[in-house]
Amino acid sequence: MTSRREQFETLFPGEPAFRWNQIEEGLFSSAKNWSELMTIPAGMRERLSVIPWMSVELVQMQVSGNGDTHKALLRVEGDKQIETVLMKNPRGAWTICVSSQVGCAMRCGFCATGKMGLTRSLTADEIVDQYRFWKHFKIAERISNIVYMGMGEPLANYEAVKESLNTLLARTDLGKTRITVSTVGVLPRLEQILTDRGWPHVRLAVSLHSAIEQTRKLIVPTSYDDFLPKLENWAKRYLAQFGNRRHHLTFEYVMLKCVNDTPAHARALALFVNRIGHVRVNLIPYNLTGVAFERSPDAAIDAFLAELDDRGVVATRRRTMGSDIAAACGQLIVLTPLPQTA
Ligand code: SF4
Repeated sequence: MTSRREQFETLFPGEPAFRWNQIEEGLFSSAKNWSELMTIPAGMRERLSVIPWMSVELVQMQVSGNGDTHKALLRVEGDKQIETVLMKNPRGAWTICVSSQVGCAMRCGFCATGKMGLTRSLTADEIVDQYRFWKHFKIAERISNIVYMGMGEPLANYEAVKESLNTLLARTDLGKTRITVSTVGVLPRLEQILTDRGWPHVRLAVSLHSAIEQTRKLIVPTSYDDFLPKLENWAKRYLAQFGNRRHHLTFEYVMLKCVNDTPAHARALALFVNRIGHVRVNLIPYNLTGVAFERSPDAAIDAFLAELDDRGVVATRRRTMGSDIAAACGQLIVLTPLPQTA
């Protein structure tokens, strides 16, 4: 698929670099189409109309009962569909959750997206346009955070994700600590991040789900052999290179009843985290997706948190948002027929 920039360069060969800069600035302005871009000549505005202003198109919007979560089903090129979510936290700040692929190949056992398989990766334009879509949606006064935790494995779409991050950092007021890329742990790409000077060091969250190898393999069947020692080795080098007071690693941990939520699992996790250092743990109450696992009872999650706390691990429990519209973690899936609009 040809990016907007490539289409522009084909349409206007030899244009000076400042012109694309003006156009990209315009894409992030309040303009709603090419004809509103007053910073460029009228003749150019007219010819630009052959390039899509937006690479995503709204199919359906759902709103949670309490109004704090919106989920948009968007159409992308090839008549494919993705989901993206807008959430308001108790302090009134808005976060968006963007997708990086149509479906996902990683097959995590608790995740609805994993059941879809992978159709294709999104382009950088399609990722960036999820932000632009929400910005124009106008409910959020300001988007304060972006998490790459929607459909797909971001590091399996490395180049497009990197390009989208660099564009968002350049064109919005968001700093690197306001953007989090979540990965199941694609080790070759994690290695690449250590040496890639073009990778912007936004926050990284690794979906760990267990510090016991067999349990992790049960939850993430595509997990590499000997994943845990390899991740530990990588994490130590990552933190030595990039860690600082504001830049830590996060381990995501979905709480599955009698699978990874026992005191023995908490102790294994604490040992693992303490060997690495500057890591925070985020416990995610499982959101039912109609697959094999069950949600851990609240008492088990509290006991798990206490066990981690006793061992000096900084851990939080994620607030579940939008579960009534299947917008919570692990619930994103493109269904046919479409769900009811709220
Ligand atoms: S949890 Fe993430 S990586 Fe795993 S299947 Fe779902 S979308 Fe893919």
